[in-house]
Amino acid sequence: MPLSNEPSSITLVLASTNVHKVREFRSMLKPYQWIDLFSLRDFPQYQPPVETGTTFAENSELKALHAARDLKKWVLADDSGLVVPALSGAPGIYSARFAGSDATDADNRKKLLKEMHSWSGEARNAYFECSISLSSPKGLEKSASSICEGEILSAERGGGGFGYDPLFVKHGYSKTFSELEEAIKNRISHRRKALDKIIPFLESLLGQA
Ligand code: IMP
Repeated sequence: MPLSNEPSSITLVLASTNVHKVREFRSMLKPYQWIDLFSLRDFPQYQPPVETGTTFAENSELKALHAARDLKKWVLADDSGLVVPALSGAPGIYSARFAGSDATDADNRKKLLKEMHSWSGEARNAYFECSISLSSPKGLEKSASSICEGEILSAERGGGGFGYDPLFVKHGYSKTFSELEEAIKNRISHRRKALDKIIPFLESLLGQA
């Protein structure tokens, strides 16, 4: 089924108002000039649903479906976060509000550092997880998840990125996600790997248009 009346392009709304996520998606989708990308910042009247899912996948599906039905457009939603196995999976789906409902990224990092204080070795292992869902106004079309494994440092490093980036070093790298150029993070991140699983589906829709 074509995504729009214009056979050579696809209108897609990113179900996020997070400027950092939106910037990363814009950059990763830039080569795909046939995607006409919007975000929820373009729809200020839209009221997102409460994220009641118990997994990243459930929350990304919920966000994509709700926005697609409400806006009557094709929607791409991302739900992501940091998982620390030695913390029983925390902060997990609560990554954005680990230190409380009004917590800033800096508050969340501070709490994480405190909880992991004095831990060493494998206990500092962690991974980012990202679930991406694509929904049309008719329903869920495609979902994909990926992880990016690394470790949590004992102090912040770097000024770029967002969230837990200043504390996270991917295995095989020496710089934190904050210290890496954004273009490099966007080639190796959990978000990139999940998006790569969705792109062929979008391309196949375009081919049918
Ligand atoms: P969401 O908007 O509910 O999916 O929450 C995402 C939260 O997970 C963010 O606020 C960050 O704390 C964290 N997070 C997700 N992806 C990243 C990333 O790429 N870098 C750093 N933190 C991230």
